[in-house]
Amino acid sequence: MHQVISACRSCGTGGLRPILSLGETPLADALVDPARLDQPEASYPLEVAFCAACSLVQLKQTVSPETLFTQDYPYYSSFSDTLVSHARRNAERLITDEGLDQQSLVVELASNDGYLLRHFAAQGVPVLGIDPAEGPARAAQEAGIPTLRAFFDRELAACLLAEGKRAEVVLANNVLAHVPDLNGFVAGIGMLLAGSGVAVIEAPYVRDLIDRCEFDTIYHEHLCYFSVTALNRLFARHGLVLSRVEHYPLHGGSLRLFVRPGGEPDDTVRRYLAEEAEHGLDEVGYYRDFAARVEQVKHDLLALLGKLKASGARIAAYGAAAKGATLLNYVGIGSETLDYVVDRNVHKQGRFMPGVRLPIADPARLVADQPDYVLLLAWNFADEILAQQQAYLRAGGRFVVPVPEPAVLERSYP
Ligand SMILES: [Zn+2]
Repeated sequence: MHQVISACRSCGTGGLRPILSLGETPLADALVDPARLDQPEASYPLEVAFCAACSLVQLKQTVSPETLFTQDYPYYSSFSDTLVSHARRNAERLITDEGLDQQSLVVELASNDGYLLRHFAAQGVPVLGIDPAEGPARAAQEAGIPTLRAFFDRELAACLLAEGKRAEVVLANNVLAHVPDLNGFVAGIGMLLAGSGVAVIEAPYVRDLIDRCEFDTIYHEHLCYFSVTALNRLFARHGLVLSRVEHYPLHGGSLRLFVRPGGEPDDTVRRYLAEEAEHGLDEVGYYRDFAARVEQVKHDLLALLGKLKASGARIAAYGAAAKGATLLNYVGIGSETLDYVVDRNVHKQGRFMPGVRLPIADPARLVADQPDYVLLLAWNFADEILAQQQAYLRAGGRFVVPVPEPAVLERSYP
């Protein structure tokens, strides 16, 4: 089930300008069970467009959330050391900066397996997780994190308010870009926030996507690609103030946004808005050569892998996440080139990558099997993965990164 939008997801203006088409691809998180290998998979067009009125970069297609977030949604945040330590540091900082205590309430939207909320709970701060995915929500509850299994929107916010709940902190990490009803979601945050509260929202930054050609972060689950300019307009529409912006390297470049019911933006907000205007992120011209650069990465990656293969090399890949599925399906890399994909997430092992149908194995297989090269699909966790794969590297293995330019990584020993 999918729909094609005719107006901007944020401001509702028509006449969206197309900037990139990745063709038809299967759903990037829909790993294939061995029992279903003989059945066809649905695939959907994947097209990116720009709204000249509010500067939002967005997908033209919306696959329904019921189709996307099935019962066996395989993403568990706790499988990444980088995410777990990022979460702990952020929680400790918010507890101090916002003066949170036993009287406070921290609500997290898309709370996954509770990997972030457990750091607040450990300090005695009451928490509530909200997540529609059954597996991760159950894992959170088993870990003692109260979790509502639901999609967050205006109506759910109204229900929580009716129960007398107001949040000093609302957390929304890597979910805003996934929400079909962007305005309903932001309005709900505004309703749930206490007068002195703050929403801390993390989302990938469109400037990093474009400048570093991170086209594999584009997939059906990921509907919007935000600039500070577009976000500032979105929050203002709901009477909220974007009060602070931080930029950090997670997931190829992400924004952390502090949003409050009142007050004034600080210098960071003014600086980002000025820089974006200077670089033209609010005009379609900035996005014009992106499609040609994506095409070039495809061409160069096929040439590099083809050369390695012709020399008799065996090649595997690391990272059975959505961006890996996007890359393999768009570039057209399957079992003719790669033997298998490895991933630490045990829920993914034994299943197959969507579309290209490559088997997913335990990363221990890299050392046992010692392929000559490993294509690093999860390049956003490169440091973590290279540190874990010292045995593979010492035995002569090499990693290949696909973006911003396909390349064989120099060996490094931390
Ligand atoms: Zn718009």
